[in-house]
Amino acid sequence: MHKATIGVIGGSGLYEIEGAKTIEEIKVTTPWGRPSDAIVIADIEGHRAAFLPRHGRGHVFLPHEVNYRANIAALKMIGVEQVVAFSAVGSLKEKIRPLDFVLPDQVIDRTKARESTFFGGGVAAHITYGDPFCLRVQGVIKSAADEMGLTMHTGETLICMEGPAFSTRAESNLYRSWGAGAINMSTVPEAKLAREAELCYAVVCMSTDYDCWHDEVEHVTIDMVIKNLAVNSDNAKRLLKLILDRLGRERECECGEASRYAVITAEQKRNKKQMKKLKSILPKYFS
Ligand SMILES: [Zn+2]
Repeated sequence: MHKATIGVIGGSGLYEIEGAKTIEEIKVTTPWGRPSDAIVIADIEGHRAAFLPRHGRGHVFLPHEVNYRANIAALKMIGVEQVVAFSAVGSLKEKIRPLDFVLPDQVIDRTKARESTFFGGGVAAHITYGDPFCLRVQGVIKSAADEMGLTMHTGETLICMEGPAFSTRAESNLYRSWGAGAINMSTVPEAKLAREAELCYAVVCMSTDYDCWHDEVEHVTIDMVIKNLAVNSDNAKRLLKLILDRLGRERECECGEASRYAVITAEQKRNKKQMKKLKSILPKYFS
């Protein structure tokens, strides 16, 4: 089922692409269950893309309740090869002001209880994850942001925390001492699963607040997050259009081969049932 090669995952505040023309809505079932919502195949100003709101329309799922495996598997199963994800983040640095964009290139995983791999269950595998995001897609995003004149911070480390409560001040200061630039609750395991499924993946972060470390500004509240997201959604949509203009169909990066040498379980020992599940997202390697 080849519906679109580019996928867009919307985060908090981005549940639909306004102005996009819906071509069709697809309800996908994966071996890992159902994704957060129906996937919308849309025409976004002349570009075909598959849109999936991470938290579901109407924001139904908390970050730890999102079925990340089903979301990534569903996109892969309808033909997606490259994913541009959006996420609201808190800023951990003075220079990253609310409404600025951040394109993190590293992530520190502070999540606790999430299914973070397609492997296991009799098919053991380890992927390379030193650079968690696709550098090629990141380059496209940055050049689109530059063309728009957006403030987009690069070279930053993102903290992905479990939530759903925001950080304590001590945690926030700890992350600052690690040199991290932004914090959210959803990039892990999304990015990791995308890599396992051999998708190119990068996340565009929109800063909404200063978390709770900043002594001179109000601590983060959901109200603050939503207000700033609304202000920023126009910029996000314009940025997405430019990204889609520039994303080539040819993938000159290694993401499309990420799981080729990952499996370590001896062929004769691999669990048949698990191999069947994996076939749906990695048909090259499993039959
Ligand atoms: Zn890539």
